[in-house]
Amino acid sequence: MKPAAAVAAFVGAGVVVLLAAAGGGSPMVGVQRVGDRMKGQLGRFFSWAEVTASGAASRLGLDNTPPPEAQAALERLVAVVLDPLRSQLGRPIVVTSGYRSAAVNRAVSGSPTSQHMSGEAVDIKATGLSAEQLAGAIVRTGLPFDQVIWYAPERGGHVHLSYTEKRPNRREVLYAPAAGGYTRSAAS
Ligand SMILES: [Zn+2]
Repeated sequence: MKPAAAVAAFVGAGVVVLLAAAGGGSPMVGVQRVGDRMKGQLGRFFSWAEVTASGAASRLGLDNTPPPEAQAALERLVAVVLDPLRSQLGRPIVVTSGYRSAAVNRAVSGSPTSQHMSGEAVDIKATGLSAEQLAGAIVRTGLPFDQVIWYAPERGGHVHLSYTEKRPNRREVLYAPAAGGYTRSAAS
């Protein structure tokens, strides 16, 4: 689908759709029903649509517009961690979950203290890499992060990546096994 056709399709549907095709690949204009600031690109490789899209929000009709503070946190997360990571990996990164309003977070049974609610976390997958491989690659880049949690395939097979400027980043690496809970990972 040509970009113009894609944009028209999204406008026609009137909903936010995860721009998986953009996926940290070629820059693409995202379209969604939010303020002007959040139209288009958030960073070099990521659009606002990619980090605010929520299947649960669309399904349940919930507003998932980040407030200014969370917008600023998302901009820092992309500028400091996600864009450089995408550059160094040299392969597309798909954001499977980014910002979550409190209502959206409840709808997806997120942790009540989830950094997704402050715009400080994204769940990602990278083409051709397992969650474990992606977690290891993130650690090896030396980029700053607060938490990297790699999930077993049974729990989504994604990597939760967070970054904060409210306090020192913990650089904590955890594994979320199929059986539940979290264990410290040696990858740090
Ligand atoms: Zn997460």
